[in-house]
Amino acid sequence: MRDTLVLNASFEPLSTVTLNRAVVLVLQDKAVVEQAHPGLRLRAATVELPVPRVIRLCRYVRVPFRRQAPWSRRGVLVRDQYRCAYCGKRATTVDHVLPRSHGGSDSWLNTVASCAEDNHRKAARTPEQAGMPLLREPFVPSPADAMLLGLKVGERSELPSWLAARPAA
Ligand SMILES: [Zn+2]
Repeated sequence: MRDTLVLNASFEPLSTVTLNRAVVLVLQDKAVVEQAHPGLRLRAATVELPVPRVIRLCRYVRVPFRRQAPWSRRGVLVRDQYRCAYCGKRATTVDHVLPRSHGGSDSWLNTVASCAEDNHRKAARTPEQAGMPLLREPFVPSPADAMLLGLKVGERSELPSWLAARPAA
């Protein structure tokens, strides 16, 4: 399924997000569905909604173009959607790719979300030294991503696994 387009409250396109994140924004009342995939509903015991193709934020957000989002631990977790960069499982910690003891900085390009076990296992080593390749490279969030960070989607940005898209009955 393709990514979902996010419109500002003013209908100006801001960015795209994963379907999961789009649904979370809708369920958290931060956005409404403007356009849905025809014939598809997301369905679970207590939730049912159209599969969003376009969502619009309820509140207008100012997008700081050209300004880089300030680095934060929470920001790294949100950027990586709470997925460990080494094993893909749920991440609760932030790992410095080049360890701080080796001069690694607190920056978007040097930090990744990591589960506690992998963070502990990697310790003060580089991924190469630890034999733990990154599943994906860290990146600087775009201004639009920074907007999403500002919406505090946060910790519960994951869908329950049983909430899956199904054809409308
Ligand atoms: Zn891990």
